[in-house]
Amino acid sequence: LKIERDINGNLVKSQESEDAGTKPDLAQQSLLNKLIRRTLVENRNQVVVLQADPTSPLYSVKSFEELRLKPDLLRGVYQMGFNRPSKIQESALPMMLAEPPQNLIAQSQSGTGKTAAFSLAMLSHVNPENKWPQCLCVAPTYELALQIGQVIEQMGKFCPDVKLAYGIRGNGLQRGISLQEQIVVGTPGTLLDWTRFKIIDPKKITLFVLDEADVMIATQGHRDQSIRIQRQLLKTCQMLLFSATFEDSVWRFAEVVVPDPNIIRLKREEETLNTIKQFYMVCRNKEEKFEAISNLYGCLTIAQAMIFCQTRKIAAWLCTALVNEGHQVALLSGELTVEQRAAIINRFKSGLEKVLVTTNVCSRGIDVAQISLVVNFDLPVDIDGNADSETYLHRIGRTGRFGKRGFAVNLVDSGLLTIIQEIETHFGRKITKLDSENLGEFE
Ligand code: ADP
Repeated sequence: LKIERDINGNLVKSQESEDAGTKPDLAQQSLLNKLIRRTLVENRNQVVVLQADPTSPLYSVKSFEELRLKPDLLRGVYQMGFNRPSKIQESALPMMLAEPPQNLIAQSQSGTGKTAAFSLAMLSHVNPENKWPQCLCVAPTYELALQIGQVIEQMGKFCPDVKLAYGIRGNGLQRGISLQEQIVVGTPGTLLDWTRFKIIDPKKITLFVLDEADVMIATQGHRDQSIRIQRQLLKTCQMLLFSATFEDSVWRFAEVVVPDPNIIRLKREEETLNTIKQFYMVCRNKEEKFEAISNLYGCLTIAQAMIFCQTRKIAAWLCTALVNEGHQVALLSGELTVEQRAAIINRFKSGLEKVLVTTNVCSRGIDVAQISLVVNFDLPVDIDGNADSETYLHRIGRTGRFGKRGFAVNLVDSGLLTIIQEIETHFGRKITKLDSENLGEFE
């Protein structure tokens, strides 16, 4: 048994000894989210803005024009297909571009446009005529730094005089060399070395960005290295910090790194069971569960479905059984690399496969909005064998997004009926028994 934390910092209980060693590390999860995301995450929640100086008139903007960006930068933004600022960008951008500079701590779930926002801020901040680093951006891993770099490069496509350098391992530079690039993105260790060796002059940095603060502090050593970089900067340097989540530990770190901050928070959209019809079927063993799925398959093909199994072994077994019946199924499992997982989720998102079989561990934090059916091949239970309602909500809640109707089918081992009752009581919503007689109701 092991306890892990998911992308939101929630405890994830996993009984999969088979999945040992594949703990969904936060940086990996975050990279996976970035790799599979092509569109902005919708969020209808209110943005909460707390300003350091309540009298400062920093209005939100509804268009990119209002930001008075350099024309070349505006071209880059439009070329990326951005028509108007996302919710977090609306309030964060005016603050980031304000004169005199404003410090900012911003929290918003992944996919809401934070990276695009601070990339834009960095690009409009630099003076291209000055051939030295002016913006420093710290990311938790090599791969995440590359992702940010790609956004900067795309957005800055029409700003040929602005150059970008990667401060990441493998990009070894010798002492005494000084960088000419105006923007440097990298990991804390390398960037700390570069500032100490004067490859970057920290006193000339006028904008410091710390991305994925929650992931950063979860990584050994990164917290202190980031603080040591920040301490070398001038007091007048503008500091920006971003995080997808905001527990106390993130907050304490943020306060150390960003003095006198403005704060913007965008609550995560709550998952809900309001628009989801829930059913259960009693099965004696996995073969009966498979049969149940085969019977449901008529429904599965009209929509996309996700099937959750308790262990990797069961997931693999089920997948083979479904494929043998001639179904198009994808298996998302823990031993795959991040890129392989991203590719599978992408194929599924684009409808190439209709069914995705997965375990808890590797599907957390992944948004696939168009799923209309979720099957629990095994019910989610905690370490003590009680119903794990939180995980249940995470799994099922993804079906009924944005008011769309969704279905959830629970395949229940005959001995575990009390768990269904527990879940029913917990959410105060009926879970209807489904058997061969009323299958029609489901369709
Ligand atoms: P975050 O850093 O919060 O995870 P990103 O900045 O990576 O979010 O944005 C998520 C996705 O949305 C990316 O594919 C990005 O290109 C896209 N995106 C960001 N801002 C906008 C916008 N204003 N309009 C349209 N798409 C956007």
